[in-house]
Formats: sequence, C-alpha cells, structure tokens
Amino acid sequence: MSNDVNCIFCKIIKGEIPSAKVYEDEKVLAFMDISQVTKGHTLLIPKAHKTDVFELDTELASHLFSVVPKLAKGLKATYKPEGLNIVNNNGETAGQTVFHYHVHLIPRYGKGDGFG
Ligand code: 5GP
Ligand code: ZN
Repeated sequence: MSNDVNCIFCKIIKGEIPSAKVYEDEKVLAFMDISQVTKGHTLLIPKAHKTDVFELDTELASHLFSVVPKLAKGLKATYKPEGLNIVNNNGETAGQTVFHYHVHLIPRYGKGDGFG
C-alpha cells in the first residue's frame, strides 16, 4: 500500500497516530475528525495515499463512495442529526489542509450547530 511518510493520515492508517475508527476495510478507513465541527464529524479516506480527487481512480472512488451510505446511516442512528453534509475539499484554494484525499461527513442539527 503506497503511503507518504510525512502524511498525517498515512500515519493514522499505519497506527502511528491514534484515531477513533468508525469503519475499516482493505481499501478505506473512516475515523472521527479530531476537530469535531459538529457531533459525529467523520472523515473517510482511501488507505492508498492520494493527494486529492485529481489523483483518485474511478475504481477506488467508487469503492470509497459505496461506503458513504453505510456511514451516513450509522451516524444517523447514533447521533440522530436532522441532516448531513458530505464535503470534499481539493486544493489549498478550495480549503484543503490535509493533502491526503478525504470526504467529510458532517451531521447537522439545525441553526447554530457550528457548520455552514
Ligand atoms: P480539510 O480542511 O483538508 O478538508 O480537512 C482536514 C481535516 O482533518 C480537518 O477537519 C482536521 O480537523 C482533520 N485533522 C487534521 N489532523 C488530524 C488528526 O491528526 N486526526 C484527526 N482525526 N483529524 C485530523
Ligand atoms: Zn497520506
């Protein structure tokens, strides 16, 4: 599995940095965002180091997104949000700060919940 020694998410995948894991299979990992924008804020990443959507191949993207409904349903059952944002930033200009592809799942609880 290709990874980048300086990448914080690759370190999480290797277990060098602890994380609260939500879901894992051979290709992807989901874990709680360290800075919970709202309760249940989760990140879904490929285990292979891909910087952004421009490096992602269709097969991996398709597997990664096949996990999204499972995660969404799990978050809904656990946290009982009213809604859910699914967000992906690509490139510094677009607000990306960690350069290992990731999808944010942000449960929404209504006005003033901290996001948007
Ligand atoms: P971006 O701004 O690149 O779309 O999102 C990066 C996300 O990674 C941020 O929401 C940030 O809180 C999260 N993050 C950064 N470092 C860590 C870490 O060490 N552990 C976890 N769980 N999340 C992190
Ligand atoms: Zn990485």
